[in-house]
Amino acid sequence: MFQEISQKQIAEITEGSFLSGKDELLVSQIAIDSRQILHPEKTLFVALRGAKADGADFIPQLAELGVKTFLVHLDFDALGIPDVCFIKVSDTRWALQLLAKYQRELFSNPVVSIAGSNGKTIVKEWLGQILGQKYAVAKSPKSYNSQVGVPLSIFGIEPYHQVAILEAGISRAGEMAALEEMIKPNLGIFTNLGTAHQEGFDNLESKLQEKLSLFSASNFLIYCTDQKEVSIQIEKLFSKEKLVGWSDRAGAEFTRSVKVKVNGARLILMKADLSTHTFQVPFTDVASLENITHVIVAAMTLGQNAESIQEGIAHLKSVDMRLTLKPGINDSLLIDDTYNNDLAGLKVAMDFMQQQRPKRRKILILSDLLQQGSPEKIYREVAELIRKYQFDHLYGVGKEIFFLEKEFQETFTGFSSTEELLASLDPETFANDMILITGARVFKFEEVVNRLQQRIHGTTLEINLNALTHNYNFYKKQLSPKTKVMVMVKAFAYGGGAVEIANQIQTMGADYLGVAFSDEGIALRKQGIKLPIMVLNAMQESFGLCSEFDLEPVVFSPEFFESLASWCLIHQKKMRIHLDMDTGMHRLGFEKKQLELLKGLIQSNPQLEIASIYTHLVGADEEIHREFSLSQLKSFEGMKNEVLDILSYHPLIHALNSAGIVAFPEFQFSMVRLGIGLYGVEVTGKHELALRAISTLKTTISQVKELEAGETVGYSRKGVLPAGGTIATLALGYADGYDRRFSNGKGYVLIQGQKAAVIGNVCMDMCMVDVSGMDVKAGDEAIVYGEKISLKELADQIGTIPYELLTNISTRVKRVYYLD
Ligand SMILES: *Cc1c(COP(=O)(O)O)cnc(C)c1O
Repeated sequence: MFQEISQKQIAEITEGSFLSGKDELLVSQIAIDSRQILHPEKTLFVALRGAKADGADFIPQLAELGVKTFLVHLDFDALGIPDVCFIKVSDTRWALQLLAKYQRELFSNPVVSIAGSNGKTIVKEWLGQILGQKYAVAKSPKSYNSQVGVPLSIFGIEPYHQVAILEAGISRAGEMAALEEMIKPNLGIFTNLGTAHQEGFDNLESKLQEKLSLFSASNFLIYCTDQKEVSIQIEKLFSKEKLVGWSDRAGAEFTRSVKVKVNGARLILMKADLSTHTFQVPFTDVASLENITHVIVAAMTLGQNAESIQEGIAHLKSVDMRLTLKPGINDSLLIDDTYNNDLAGLKVAMDFMQQQRPKRRKILILSDLLQQGSPEKIYREVAELIRKYQFDHLYGVGKEIFFLEKEFQETFTGFSSTEELLASLDPETFANDMILITGARVFKFEEVVNRLQQRIHGTTLEINLNALTHNYNFYKKQLSPKTKVMVMVKAFAYGGGAVEIANQIQTMGADYLGVAFSDEGIALRKQGIKLPIMVLNAMQESFGLCSEFDLEPVVFSPEFFESLASWCLIHQKKMRIHLDMDTGMHRLGFEKKQLELLKGLIQSNPQLEIASIYTHLVGADEEIHREFSLSQLKSFEGMKNEVLDILSYHPLIHALNSAGIVAFPEFQFSMVRLGIGLYGVEVTGKHELALRAISTLKTTISQVKELEAGETVGYSRKGVLPAGGTIATLALGYADGYDRRFSNGKGYVLIQGQKAAVIGNVCMDMCMVDVSGMDVKAGDEAIVYGEKISLKELADQIGTIPYELLTNISTRVKRVYYLD
């Protein structure tokens, strides 16, 4: 934080009032997450109310930990928490923003801010690296660009910083004003306008105007004049003096020409005064070229000379900059943060690690941070983080990292270079460990990751855990805050990987998990998942395991009830069970005529406690079944009331699946069961844009071949290119879950953003696509589905449903998890 503030100042800045406590204590850190507190005494905890939880719930435990200062809502009841200071405000999020605004105003060096639909994070990272060669740069960690992310980024600005780069992202109308108030950028960059998140806006134009309002007070605004709707608005809204446009045509402040070569491009910028500057960049794709142009123009506008910009570019790579969770050797888990180079990012990575399931040891492999500023101070903070997150062993690489040696002694092993580390690193020393690998670019820690990760064959399913949280919050918003959420993680969490997904769900604060079979529940328990778990189809043979692993079976017939009840009697166990009411699905469940029998069984078997009563809708996703769904819900109400009448306690009541939540929110009862929607498919089609795709299935090209006219492709000679052409063989077949019905042009993949249709029959482990006229080579990536290819469209194409495509992905395809 830029400057310490007293409790009294906090109350003044936030227009809050004291509820209790002293007012002179100084605060130097602000936290909104109870798990991220380093110096309790010096921390202000801001209790935010989110879709998943109320921060105020953590106050008693934080007070115990030693936190002395809290910002709370007016209705907060501080009964029984002594010796701490509560400052009450009408809205804690607003108060957080006021504090950010205050801290921002104390910083008098340049602030750069980036808005636009795509590329914000990349532009921020690249500009940060180029400026970071000479200056101490503060930048938003990862993509912290929201109403809460921006304040947190601002609190990361320290007095020694010489420039700050902050992202600004909005998802609905009215949000930018608050961000502008806080950021007050001196220099703005507008990347581009896409169609993402259209939902929260009336139309594209109002969305654009809102985004541009970030730059009302900035001295400079960098943009590409070739995007017409953008430049028209910008030129209408702002005075000419502050505009710095670039274009591929003559007439702008900077005119760009690009010569693309095999593994890079030459980019020439000509200024209005006809001076020219040439840059070699290591990219060829349109998006990266656009991003780097924004970066170069921004750096030049900030007074950097072309040589030092070029030197910075030479160290950039269009690498994966996400925080990624990967399977490691011997059942270890790797957290790959090889792009990280500052303290703020390190904290995010450690926190992410903390949320993963427990492992034998926690290992940190860390390079010098290459952050400008006093090393003593930086490494003291690093040491505190290492203690807080309780690492068991630390491998340090670099020169400055040796500061940590005296702190950790025998748990520290130091190396002067990555080569030296690699030479002495024996992967077999790791088993069932959690390994966080984080290092600045130049240390090339991706080689360390390569060494420690499980071999991955050509196809991977990448899962975006932030998108999962986004989707969860979308459904949470449709519900009353009291309604509980059971997330269905059956069938390997719809193909996403049960344990990792369940773990994220646990972190997000869901209430229950649902699985199909006991095995699935047992696997979750063995990996440390603590949420209650309902098992849809527990078999007689697994009653013992259900009891041992604390799984709660669904009971769907009188016979099942009796056999479970007598098992419990014989073994002297109690069990929590769920009752399935059949209201029209006719799959499993009690029928209306069996209710009398059921009630008798419940009364004579108190060893079975009814945890919940539920039913399942057969057509909640389709408007034509609306009447039938309503009749199911009505008859369920009657049935569950009959059972409730004989109970002296209150089980949970639930009926809605993902589609039901959207279509019948008035029937949410006390819980809902979320499935496909969490995984990014909105089956009713009403809110498609509100959800984000969580998984991307990727594979690689194994070989490229030229075919003559008349030659055929694959088994049974089904694939024909009448005039000949080029085909690419992909490392993906039906054994990986790529449906054979995609054969012969039914399916396509994206290679370099272009569609390539499947040619011939899909084979067991491979398939071929038509890449005629495209410039592709072995090793290139092909996207099978993801953000740009919707699952629904693909499913329609072969006459199935997204559920089947998701759950078909074979377990031999490695799942990789990341935060974007
Ligand atoms: C799978 C399942 C769900 C989830 O359904 P979605 O359509 O994926 O939301 C809910 N309830 C039961 C009983 C299920 O089997």
